[in-house]
Amino acid sequence: MHFKIQVVIEEASGETTTEDIIHLDKRCESGSTLGLSLLESKQLLQTLQKTMVLSQAERYSTSHQDCPCCHKKRTIKSYHTIQFRTLFGIISIPNMRLYHCACAHSSKKSFSLLSEWLPEHTSPELLYIETKWASLMSYGSTADLLHDVLPVNQSLNPATVRNHLHKVAERQEAELEGKPDHLSGCPRDWGELPKPEKPMTVGIDGGYVRNWHEKNTNFEVIAGKSFSTAQSSKRFSFVQKLEDKPRRRLMNVLTEQGMQANQQITFLSDGADNVRDLQYYMYPESEHILDWFHVAMKLTVLNQFAKGMAHTDPDEGAEVTKVLSH
Ligand SMILES: [Zn+2]
Repeated sequence: MHFKIQVVIEEASGETTTEDIIHLDKRCESGSTLGLSLLESKQLLQTLQKTMVLSQAERYSTSHQDCPCCHKKRTIKSYHTIQFRTLFGIISIPNMRLYHCACAHSSKKSFSLLSEWLPEHTSPELLYIETKWASLMSYGSTADLLHDVLPVNQSLNPATVRNHLHKVAERQEAELEGKPDHLSGCPRDWGELPKPEKPMTVGIDGGYVRNWHEKNTNFEVIAGKSFSTAQSSKRFSFVQKLEDKPRRRLMNVLTEQGMQANQQITFLSDGADNVRDLQYYMYPESEHILDWFHVAMKLTVLNQFAKGMAHTDPDEGAEVTKVLSH
């Protein structure tokens, strides 16, 4: 059986063009592959992406060659290509360098036509998946997995993923600058706010991680997760010693989850001072609860203690066990 997959591009005028994407011959017998193979799916996605990207870029170039002010055609200085990296392959997009129009009064003589639309040559979705996966596993596994399931460019390697992740992290840090670390407005205004959603819950805990460079030293990482009924949960973490604005970071996570100033928030923690400091004073409507895991951990320790005591003083040990079981 022969399968021909085509894309039909329809212009606003109604004019259409059809382009072949892929031709596949499939046998309909036992032992042959049913449907698309992984390799065919990659070829399909890559060719489809190329067709769409090139059509869109061509349309953009033809409709933006004229000066937006006086509508005169701007002169072409040179032609070159942009290597645009996407989740579905690297696409060479033809681009033009145009001379600025005389009416533009620009300090530069020429400019790249596509640079306004595509200032970065990596698609945001590729950056998103690289960064998300690399925050859950190693850079090497991220690169391997991307190559396994998607037609990403062959040159993508662990170092690329690492560089992209650092760039995204730096941009996120820069975006955090200047954001508030406290609730805006005053309590009188908060009463005027619409009725909030159900209470939000934030669990925070700290843990020690060994320093890779100085193996005999540890540093403390504070990590947390916030749950809201309106949106999916969000996680945050920071290194206690290095973070100078922990409240701002937490406030930003809660704000992104749609927290209102009049909303009830429940903080769960082990009650340690450093974690408690972060929650305290931050939010007037908050409630602080010792979480069950840490309460259970403390009870386990006491239980072990009672068992030990039962060996030396059976009566006293039985009494402590009885109290703990309640
Ligand atoms: Zn002009």
